[in-house]
Amino acid sequence: MFPTDVDDRDLSAASAAEAAAALTVHSSAIQALSRINHPVWIYDFDAQRVLWANGPGLSLWRAKSLAALCERRLGVGMSPVVDERLRQFQRDLESAPERSITELWTLYPQGVPTTQPIEFSAFVLDDGRIAALCQAQQAPAIDLLALRSAEALMHTPLQVTLYSEDGEPLYRNPAARAAAPRPEQRLDEHLPQPEDLHELMQGLRDRGEHRLLAQVQTGAGRRWHELTARRCLDAATGLTSWLVSESDVSATQQVRREAEQLAERDALTHLHNRHHVSARFPGLLSDLSLAGRPAALIHLNLDRFKLINESHGHGKGDRVLVEVARRLRGTLRASDQVVRLGGDEFLILVCDDDVVAHARRLGLRLRETLGQRHEIDGAALRVTASLGVSLFPADGADLSTLMSHAELAMHRAKGRGGDTLVFYSAELGQEARRRGRLEGELMQALENGEFVLHYQPRVEARSQRIVGAEALVRWRHPERGLVMPSEFIPVCEDSGLILQLGSWVLEQAARQAARWHARGHDLRISVNFSARQIQAPDMVEHMDEVLARSGCPPAALEMEITESLLAGEDLRMREQLDTLSQRGLRIAIDDFGTGYSNLAYLERFPLDCLKIDRRFVEQLDTRPAIAKLIISMCQVLDLEIVAEGVETPAQLAWLQAEGCHQYQGFLRSRALPPEDFEALLQTA
Ligand code: C2E
Ligand code: CA
Ligand code: CA
Repeated sequence: MFPTDVDDRDLSAASAAEAAAALTVHSSAIQALSRINHPVWIYDFDAQRVLWANGPGLSLWRAKSLAALCERRLGVGMSPVVDERLRQFQRDLESAPERSITELWTLYPQGVPTTQPIEFSAFVLDDGRIAALCQAQQAPAIDLLALRSAEALMHTPLQVTLYSEDGEPLYRNPAARAAAPRPEQRLDEHLPQPEDLHELMQGLRDRGEHRLLAQVQTGAGRRWHELTARRCLDAATGLTSWLVSESDVSATQQVRREAEQLAERDALTHLHNRHHVSARFPGLLSDLSLAGRPAALIHLNLDRFKLINESHGHGKGDRVLVEVARRLRGTLRASDQVVRLGGDEFLILVCDDDVVAHARRLGLRLRETLGQRHEIDGAALRVTASLGVSLFPADGADLSTLMSHAELAMHRAKGRGGDTLVFYSAELGQEARRRGRLEGELMQALENGEFVLHYQPRVEARSQRIVGAEALVRWRHPERGLVMPSEFIPVCEDSGLILQLGSWVLEQAARQAARWHARGHDLRISVNFSARQIQAPDMVEHMDEVLARSGCPPAALEMEITESLLAGEDLRMREQLDTLSQRGLRIAIDDFGTGYSNLAYLERFPLDCLKIDRRFVEQLDTRPAIAKLIISMCQVLDLEIVAEGVETPAQLAWLQAEGCHQYQGFLRSRALPPEDFEALLQTA
């Protein structure tokens, strides 16, 4: 409509007789049609010509004769939309010849626009093909605006359908008709998901309007459409109807889903990632909750994975992670969720009627599969994991509570040495809250200057001369009095506060050392360093600054580091220690014998001193062998040796006899405030 641009100025030379021949058999029908007093004509879809018209038809088409009209090639210059609309009519009339379609069309006979409703119905030609019997109806008074909007509706790619209140299609524009599989497709067939239809109708009834992104049934299968529906009145009947306009957004939808998929996958292991957890887990949990089913959330963290990375390189570390992911998937059921949260952290969600027993069994199975050797580039690696479990809904009804509880339980598993599974408990929660509070207090204490250093004398075993001191930090708590470091150092280490505290300790100790030096005391002050401090990339610069500011000679300071630091293959850390050692600083291994004693480590590092852990000194009377071994080893390696925790004259006598160089312990003195330490120096 119409055939807006059907124009007959271009006359064909072909004979109209040819076309008219097709009509002979129906001459009786034709005779009946001739008597109708409104315009009627028969249109051949395939030939794109009029085959016959009655008198009013001829005048509507402004044709001098039937022969002249039949010669017009209506297809020439026809717009593709009109062409497609006629083809739709042809298909619809072929499949349902009893139907008729009425639509407002604008014809252009001899270039003059004329608009009227035309009813199309099927007319069977002699050769069996279906042609259109077109009847122009009384033209209603149509204003130009209405005409133009009808035109716009005709040509827009937007799919517009008018449905009756109960979902029967009343009208489809060409774009909508092209998309629909059948002309009579109902609204409920168009929206195959009942919940989409429900949502749409709900919106229409409540607000008279609704927007929806949904999968719809089209002739080309399911597609994603964006629909806007409005309540309106059908202009023909005045009844309530639904005007639905929609466009196909499948392409954007596909791209979006792929992007979402990508964003929810971990590139290395192809497991889901953290985004997946926040996007999907809340929904999973509410489904479980509705179904009244329990579940377990397992936080899995590989043990000492950092060490694997450091000693075998990140490439192999990555391969281990890929292999771990594969083993996790292989151990879990298809319905279980497994996610890589990042690094060596994984999250598993399982549900089972007896979820506690299931989680326990799963924990055993995971430890067994993960524990099998990983052969990577000829290196055989063994991996263990710490697992923390929180139960849904018992340990938390929402995702973030469950996750933090599972993580807490995992940390407890780590604290027990790893390779084990721990269930969350209320005590764990209390402990965590206590630590959280303590963390805040410690931060405050640092700002308020509540920390102090005490100095424990280091004594030469043979001469009993005080040759140095170990700086030990204490917290002068406004209410609790003096708090010992074992209560707060671990919290500082976990929270990272140790970097600030450690730097304060170093600064204080260096200034004290400089002061004592200035007063003529030849003392060496040793300072405890936590792993994080040693691994800080700006360790050397920081030390240089402290030495410069305090005026402390490097040789007057000793750094106490723990044995476990030496086990890694952290090259940068080793270089930093080398640099500091070249500056004249001394490096001591603290608590020797408690960690991963590997003698090979000792030679690789620039060490000066080794401190025998208090435990071995305590056991001297019953089991002196280890202390003896450590002492002779130090003699071979030419390391200074210090015994810690010497409390009795018998212990001192034994150490002296074995040739131990120095000792610390309550036998001589506890750690003292600087003034008391100085007083001790005077009496010594
Ligand atoms: P540590 O480095 O092994 O320090 C020696 C600990 O043994 C000190 O405990 C000291 O008071 C105690 N001690 C000394 N002689 C004896 C003895 O004869 N018998 C007994 N039973 N104990 C003795 P303290 O001061 O409570 O320090 C505990 C730990 O806190 C230290 O162990 C060290 O690891 C850490 N620490 C202390 N100050 C600092 C610091 O400034 N920075 C860092 N990172 N850690 C620190
Ligand atoms: Ca120490
Ligand atoms: Ca120690």
